[in-house]
Amino acid sequence: MAKQNIQQPKNSPKNNGHDRKELKVSAIENGTVIDHIPAFSVFQVIRILNLDNIPNQIMIGTNLDSQKLGKKGIIKVSNKYFESEEINKIALVAPTATLIVIKDYTVVYKAKVEIPDKIKKIVKCINPNCITNHENIPTKFIVIDKEDLRLQCHYCEKVTKKEVINFI
Ligand SMILES: [Zn+2]
Repeated sequence: MAKQNIQQPKNSPKNNGHDRKELKVSAIENGTVIDHIPAFSVFQVIRILNLDNIPNQIMIGTNLDSQKLGKKGIIKVSNKYFESEEINKIALVAPTATLIVIKDYTVVYKAKVEIPDKIKKIVKCINPNCITNHENIPTKFIVIDKEDLRLQCHYCEKVTKKEVINFI
């Protein structure tokens, strides 16, 4: 065999990065991929979505190189599609995340998560005297700052900050 027939792969880091990402995504038959999670939030996302308590196949990558984030995490969950409340939780702890829904190895949905204007039920109010902490009333917040996350309680008007968010 003539050696000149062997071609060296083209050295194009941008394209290579893209191809690699596509390969990772298509490796799942059915389920959801949460990509572009800030590396430090990967395990928090796992906790708030209760992924440590489900029997599904889960692949977790963290501290992967990302052009956008520096270091990112990715979570792939087989045979699981998240509800809007769960997606809102993801948005609160990992606002850079991208949600990719795979069916039969095909991407059927792909979008960046979005912090909604209002948050219901998923977060506890910081105020110990708030009615939602004493009676069986679901919490309700207005998102007053999406950049530096601030949630204002609909009932007591106290503001819960990103640093102290507790999920229900
Ligand atoms: Zn409150």
